[in-house]
Formats: sequence, structure tokens, C-alpha cells
Amino acid sequence: MAQAQIAGQGPEGIVAVAAWLGDAPDLAATLQGIAATARSALGADRATCYVHDPGRHEVSAVYTTEEDPGLHAYLMRAVGSGPDQLPILMLQLCHPDPLLVIEDTASTPLLPPALAARLGAGAFIGLRLEHASVSGGEAPGLLGTLFFSYTQSRSFSEIEYQAARGLGHLASLALANARLQAETARALEDNRAMAAEQASLRRVATRVAGETAPEVVFGQTAEEVARLLGMEEALVARFSPEGAAVVGTHGAHSVIGDLLPTEGRGALATVARTSAPAEIADYSALDPSSPLRAHALEHGYRASVAAPVMVAGYLWGALLATTKREEGLPPNAAERLGRFADLVALAIANAEARQRLIDEAATDPLTGLANHRTFNERLRTAFDHARRHRHPLSLVMLDLDHFKRINDTHGHPAGDRVLVEVAARLGTLARSVDTLARVGGEEFAWLLPETPADAALTAAERARLAIADAPFSGVGWITASAGVTELQRGLGVDALVRHADEALYMAKENGRNACRLHVPEPPGLG
Ligand code: GH3
Ligand code: MG
Ligand code: MG
Repeated sequence: MAQAQIAGQGPEGIVAVAAWLGDAPDLAATLQGIAATARSALGADRATCYVHDPGRHEVSAVYTTEEDPGLHAYLMRAVGSGPDQLPILMLQLCHPDPLLVIEDTASTPLLPPALAARLGAGAFIGLRLEHASVSGGEAPGLLGTLFFSYTQSRSFSEIEYQAARGLGHLASLALANARLQAETARALEDNRAMAAEQASLRRVATRVAGETAPEVVFGQTAEEVARLLGMEEALVARFSPEGAAVVGTHGAHSVIGDLLPTEGRGALATVARTSAPAEIADYSALDPSSPLRAHALEHGYRASVAAPVMVAGYLWGALLATTKREEGLPPNAAERLGRFADLVALAIANAEARQRLIDEAATDPLTGLANHRTFNERLRTAFDHARRHRHPLSLVMLDLDHFKRINDTHGHPAGDRVLVEVAARLGTLARSVDTLARVGGEEFAWLLPETPADAALTAAERARLAIADAPFSGVGWITASAGVTELQRGLGVDALVRHADEALYMAKENGRNACRLHVPEPPGLG
């Protein structure tokens, strides 16, 4: 509806505005309509509405019918000012009645003469625009102020008071409506942003729960974080004494394996030092002499934020996001980044737990050596390799002598301690390519790839001496017997184990504390 149509005479004009308000037109048009009605219904020479910004306690917008350019500009200067800078506003806000009427501005004690002159008015009606929907407690909240002014002094009738109050109510309603709409739009926007963040977190969490390898989670997290925070670069870095090794990255110049510094004042370095989130909202605001500022500006960086990745209570690494954009960090960047850092931590903790389970399934819990199952797997692999490449492969079987007596004399726990110590002594002899396993109660297997029988016998002899040459704490002297064999062409893996066992039996038969080599001629070759 056009302004002219609602600017009717008298109370009908107000009714028309009310009807129009129901259609929820935009605020500016509504207030202009109210001002125009004030002019026609109340004969005002000018109507002006100040919209109050609740957060800042200042005027956020001015709508006026004033057409004189100088006066119009003067009225518009109120935008951004608080009541203390606007005497007329202060007067209105402090007036007990929302309706303030001055019939003759020249003779009223309420207005300072200079202000009265500046207003260029003879009479004046002010209305405090309030509405219960924005109340901050007992009193209704302030939405704005509406002023009608007259070039000549004049008196007002009771009907005109009511008409003025009516227009004030309509303006209040329009402002309350506009604020509600703005708040609804903001809430919808917040909701959308929150939904996007939830979806993003859910995608990463699904990967984490799905036992995806941490390296994949690192890369995906960097990508989600960069997109969600509207920051172009993100990376996951793992701390070590050497620095922060990049383990996942998106959009960043760094690549996996790069080592970033953990010295200095950067966000990543601050996390490394404090284990707490850190942000640099604006590199250009840093101390002009700081090398960090110089580096950032040289590469065009604007802001960065980092959050710690804490795994089982220790600082594992950090998640870092960086932007070159003018607007810098998004709201609550550190807090939001922290939620992703927690998921990264979870992925790492999960992977570590899985690895522990795998390790536990592969090793003997008492000695930490490979268990029988692992020994069989490694034996099969070494056997296949040796046969394919015609390389030598030897096996040593070692069994502690009269171990039952150790248990009987010193107790089972003392026996266990001996087994741990035996494993440690043997461990110092084995090469990294070897497999040392506990394959029975007090029986050990030592698999030696690329090793012929004579070298394996020497190794077995060293093992025997490692046990026999030094007493065991709390138990005393112990000996062991060992059987040695080498893989024969044409024989299977079972024969290798059987021959080593037979050699061990021979060592035991021979009085123990001895090593025996047993390499029978393969069938059909002798
Ligand atoms: P030999 O010289 O003939 O080997 O005599 P031995 O007593 O060592 O006989 P054998 O090799 O058959 O010994 C098995 C003994 O090892 C039985 C048990 O008392 C002991 N043993 C087996 N497993 C464990 C273990 O896990 N802990 C402890 N403390 N003792 C074990
Ligand atoms: Mg034994
Ligand atoms: Mg035994």
C-alpha cells in the first residue's frame, strides 16, 4: 500500500496504518507511513523516529519527514549516538510518562533554549516507544522514540493526545515486529550453521568409529575444519622434540612429513607450550618487530587458530587452521576447532588401542617375545622366502634344564622372573631379522634367516653361555640345552621344526647345558 493511501485524516488514518502493519511491510515504509499520518492526523510539521539499538544503547536508524536538507542531515547525525549525546532523547527517556508534550518550546523549563532554537519548533510531542515483548524484566523494553514537532506553539486536545499515543503504539508494534523478525532470521541462520557443524562432526566421528586409519581421519578433519570455519588452510601436526610434524593437511602449502617450528609465538607453538587453544586474530596487529608478523604478512596470512590434540592425558599434537581472508577468524573458532581436535584424539586413541590388541595377540604376555602363533607365521614366511631364493634358514630350539626344580624350590613366581630374564638375555643376541619366540613353558625358538648351520650353532652356543655364565637373581645358576638345524632342500617346514626338536633331545640326552646340531641328509640325495 502506498504511503499516500494510508495518510488519511484523523483516526481513520491510524486505523489504516494499523491495517497496513498487519501486512508486515518493511520497517522503513511503516515508520514513514506513521510519520505521514502524524502530519495529516495531528497536523505535525515534522515527524521523526529514532530506532534504538538494544545491544549498543544508541540510535541505530532515523526516519524523518523533514525535507530541509540541512535539518535532515542534522537529524540523521543521531545514528550511532547514545542518549548522552542527544539531549532530546535523554529528555524523552527520563520523562515519567512515555508521552511528553511541550506546547511552547520557548517557554518550557524542560528544554534548554539553545536546543529549542536548534529544533526549530514551537511545539513538540515526544513518545517513548516500548513493548512488553522486549522487556528486560519489570519494565517494557525500549524500542525507539517518536517525535512530532510543530513550527508554531500550540495546544493539544485530549483526542490528539490519544491519537499521538495510538501512533506511538503502532510504531512500537512495528519496531517490536522488526526486531522479532531479525532475531528469528538470526536464530535460523545460527541453526543452519549449527546443523552444518553437527553434520561435519558426524562425518568425522563416523570415520573415527569406523576404525578408519588415523592418517585418513587427519586429512578428512583438516578438510572439514577448513570448510566449516571458512578458513582456507588446515592441518594436523604431531609434536615431537624436533618440532610439529604435519600428518594431515588441506589447502595448506605444507605437505605430510613437513616439520613446522614449535618455537616462537605462533598459534601452533603456543599450543605446544601451553596445551591450551591459541588464536592470532590479526597478524598485522602483532608487535611490528615480531618475525612472526613479518612472516605472516609476507605470505598474506591474516589470522590463525590452533587447538590441542590430547591423547590419554598427554599433548599428542594440534589442529591448526589459517586464513588469508580479510574477515579473519569466524566466531568461537577455537572452541569449534577444539571439538574436531577431540575427534582426532579419539581416532588416535582408538588406533593405539587397536594396535595394542594386535600386539597382545602376537606376543607372549610374560616375556614380551613373539608367541607360538606368531612364531608359526614368521616361520612360514621365512621358509617360503628361503626356498624361493635358495637362501639358508636355521632354527634353534632352546629349553631350560631341570626347570621344574626351580619352580619347586623357589616357587612359580620366581620361575616366571627367570623366564623374563632369560628372554632379556636372548634378546640381546638376536638380530632384527631374527624371530625370538617363547613357544612353550620354558622353551624358546630362535629363527635365523640367511644363516647357515655352522653360524646358527655359534649363535646357539652364545645363547647357552648367556644363560649359564651368570647367576639369576634369587635363584642362582641355571643352564639350558639347545638344538640346531638348517633347512634342507626338498624338506618342508615341519621337518625343520622336527629336526630342531631332535637336536634338542640329543643335547638333553648328552647331559644338558649343551648345543647339538642335527641336519640329516634329505631323502633321495644321499
Ligand atoms: P628338562 O631339563 O628335561 O627340560 O627338565 P624340566 O624340568 O625343565 O622339564 P620340562 O622341560 O618338561 O619342564 C617343564 C617345566 O617348566 C614344568 C613347569 O614346572 C615349568 N614351567 C612351564 N611353564 C612355566 C611357566 O610359565 N612359569 C613357570 N614358573 N614355570 C613353568
Ligand atoms: Mg626344560
Ligand atoms: Mg620344556
